[in-house]
Amino acid sequence: MKAVVIGAGIVGTSCAWFLARDGHEVTLLDPREPGTGTSFGNAGVLSVESCLPLARLSLLLSVPAMLFDRDAPFRLRWRYLPHLLPWLLRFVLAARPGRARELGEALFALVGRADAAHDLVIAECGLAGLVRPTGWLKVARDPRRFERATAEERAALDRFSLPYRILGREELLALEPALGADLRRALWLTADRHVASPLAYTRGILRAFEARGGRWLQARATGFLGRGAEVAGVVTDRGDLEADLVVLAAGVFSRALAAAAGIRVPLEAERGYHLMLDPENCPLAHPVYGIEEGFLLAPIENRIRLTTGVELASPTAPPDYSRPRRLVPKARRLLPGLTGGIDSEWLGLRPSLPDGLPVLGRAPRSANLYLAFGHQHLGLTLGPSSGRIIADLVAGRDPGLDLAPYAADRRFF
Ligand SMILES: Cc1cc2nc3c(=O)[nH]c(=O)nc-3n(C[C@H](O)[C@H](O)[C@H](O)COP(=O)(O)OP(=O)(O)OC[C@H]3O[C@@H](n4cnc5c(N)ncnc54)[C@H](O)[C@@H]3O)c2cc1C
Repeated sequence: MKAVVIGAGIVGTSCAWFLARDGHEVTLLDPREPGTGTSFGNAGVLSVESCLPLARLSLLLSVPAMLFDRDAPFRLRWRYLPHLLPWLLRFVLAARPGRARELGEALFALVGRADAAHDLVIAECGLAGLVRPTGWLKVARDPRRFERATAEERAALDRFSLPYRILGREELLALEPALGADLRRALWLTADRHVASPLAYTRGILRAFEARGGRWLQARATGFLGRGAEVAGVVTDRGDLEADLVVLAAGVFSRALAAAAGIRVPLEAERGYHLMLDPENCPLAHPVYGIEEGFLLAPIENRIRLTTGVELASPTAPPDYSRPRRLVPKARRLLPGLTGGIDSEWLGLRPSLPDGLPVLGRAPRSANLYLAFGHQHLGLTLGPSSGRIIADLVAGRDPGLDLAPYAADRRFF
């Protein structure tokens, strides 16, 4: 069949590769170079132990204090508040305890399938050199703060029987000697893997897609051909493309395109920054999240990438790099050898629905429009498994899980 995939981030490129692998004739559309949207700048963690939904009571209770702390991992640009209110309201409702538990289970049902899809991608696209079984460290100086900050996560890890270790100071420094000697506790999520270059990973999948006859077309989708239950193709700024099936995987920009197909989804950007820091003599081996600092440091492309928490603002608002820059001295306390300067700065748009689950599956009332967007903080982790699920649906294979929690017409809270 002739397929068009809209968006060449990790999600769309994975969809395109899995479809091409099934023998479909696939065109992948993106106005930008593949992999250079949000998928470019993430922290590279294959976070297969993520089983806590973002919307939860403990997080909501910490928001008021964070709003008045200039270095907190959460920021709201107040001008955007009126637009954001319906999303925020749903987010708050999604955090009620019974619902948060259901959402955690639905999230884990996806995350639990991620490793197998990555294994397939790594083996068949020849990407083993990019991925290392490091786990992910969450470190703290104050043992009491560590207990408080990780208790809920450890309970969830136990509930889902996911492996982890608690490390004291000596064990932590033996594992990661570059870390500051004042750190006293770490949660080591041992099953997570780390991708040394998220861009090279998406590009590697793209190469394998092209080797199977897939085509990347530099074009912007603006709408759909056809009406009613079937789309007949995609309207682009370079002309119309006819297709038997279409996959919408344009990250946060999927909202407007979904609306063009009559589908309304409360998709917003959880913006996040990164700084690339010159490591000089600071060989970091693991991704490390500073619990007291609220940001992550990871070895990416021979640099140390500092990735921040969430800024809620319009996707088009100009970046404010003053906040991530202020974190550099704290990064140097975590990694005392980190004396080099900032090489580059970047802003990305995590595509997020208020209940923290992506939209994944066939579009409501449509025979041949498929949706794969809204992967929030976990798009690198969930990209390949999402591509596999979409290809299964197209082929009429059982994807092996109930897709109702990810439907575009669910209630989102
Ligand atoms: C700071 C930060 C750290 C992160 N760390 C991690 C991590 O460690 N692990 C993890 O799993 N996830 C992480 N994430 C999340 C992850 O990066 C995202 O969830 C993921 O990149 C989303 O992928 P995507 O393909 O949906 O979107 P994108 O990568 O944004 O791709 C969408 C593509 O669609 C294209 N597009 C837009 N409009 C159109 C159109 N009209 N026509 C055609 N194409 C269009 C865009 O140009 C873009 O290339 C992080 C995110 C941030 C911001």
